[in-house]
Amino acid sequence: MQSQGIIHGGIKYALNGLLTPSANAIAGMPARWQSAMQNAEEVDLKSIIPLSEHHYMFTGKALGSKLTSFFASKAVRGRMEKASSTNTPDIFKHSLFSGDVYALNEWVLDIEQVTKALVTPYQDFALKIDEVDLIDHGSEIQIEIKHNHNQFKISAKNIILTAGEGTEALVKNLDKGVSWPNMQRRPLHMIAVKGQLPGLFGHCLGSGSKPLFTVTTLSSDDGDNVWSIGGDLAENGIDWSPEKQIEHAKNVIQKNLPWIDFTSTQWRTWHVNRAEPAQKSLIRPDTAFSFKKKNLTVCWPTKLALAPDLSDQIIELNQLNQPTPDFNLPDLPVAPIAKPYWQHLFN
Ligand SMILES: Cc1cc2nc3c(=O)[nH]c(=O)nc-3n(C[C@H](O)[C@H](O)[C@H](O)COP(=O)(O)OP(=O)(O)OC[C@H]3O[C@@H](n4cnc5c(N)ncnc54)[C@H](O)[C@@H]3O)c2cc1C
Repeated sequence: MQSQGIIHGGIKYALNGLLTPSANAIAGMPARWQSAMQNAEEVDLKSIIPLSEHHYMFTGKALGSKLTSFFASKAVRGRMEKASSTNTPDIFKHSLFSGDVYALNEWVLDIEQVTKALVTPYQDFALKIDEVDLIDHGSEIQIEIKHNHNQFKISAKNIILTAGEGTEALVKNLDKGVSWPNMQRRPLHMIAVKGQLPGLFGHCLGSGSKPLFTVTTLSSDDGDNVWSIGGDLAENGIDWSPEKQIEHAKNVIQKNLPWIDFTSTQWRTWHVNRAEPAQKSLIRPDTAFSFKKKNLTVCWPTKLALAPDLSDQIIELNQLNQPTPDFNLPDLPVAPIAKPYWQHLFN
């Protein structure tokens, strides 16, 4: 529930001027999400209204010639275009803005709406429990859940484990004879700003191969906007105090968006880890990941955008056609959908 909700098509990973495997694997994802949202193809996501039908790339100053020619190249055609005077977002229509804006063919979604759309048809299966464990019986793995001092065991032909960062602990006690996949954590020190801010969905480019910062916007019930800020700013400053992280973020953001008035805004930070299959040198994995042994599939999508890639893998690994529940669930209350993380930050 902490994702910025950008359905990446991979352009962000091509800022060094090359379409890397990572950019290629993810390229088909926006179209699959969009067809699920427009035509309920594969999954019915019609209830989701995109926060923005484009994510943007912008620069504080005009782009260097290397990036300009890459952005004009055949490789990225159809995936992004230079914003024209009519489709430039309002935030950039200011005399102090002297950079370039590119519109990416990437929708930005409200992760709370995504969760609701995915969970609602299966709400009865989402149980509110105190604790869950996986028990290895040799040939079969069983789920053990605890609630209000009661214990229940669930057997199933296929168990798909998608517990994000919680996966590591759940897999730890399983059969040591199986090389269950190891997990890596890539930490972030994210920043949130709340106030009378304009909407912004964009990667701010600097001279490096990663965006300086990435902003998405959510609206708060009191009429304010909340900017969720990631990118390089959040990948750095992991050990910094919130005060230091905020001071640094303010400097970088004000330098690149000097006309935005932050006088009455509230700034917060929070720590979160990206949980992924372990890679050499903690690099970012290129695709979704899944691994099956016995009746358990361990997986990490590694990106929200890659969820369709992950579901393809799970369907193939488990030879699922039209999945029907093959287990009996205990009679327990249904779990509510969590509130968006940023609401807790500004209480
Ligand atoms: C700050 C941030 C921004 C991001 N932005 C983007 C983005 O814009 N676009 C993009 O494509 N990707 C983005 N990502 C990556 C993306 O959010 C993740 O890849 C995705 O959320 C992983 O989904 P998941 O369901 O596997 O794990 P999670 O979203 O982590 O969900 C796992 C769930 O399992 C539950 N759980 C864990 N352990 C247990 C347990 N023992 N018992 C019961 N429940 C348990 C957790 O409470 C959680 O609800 C972002 C990640 C972060 C951290």
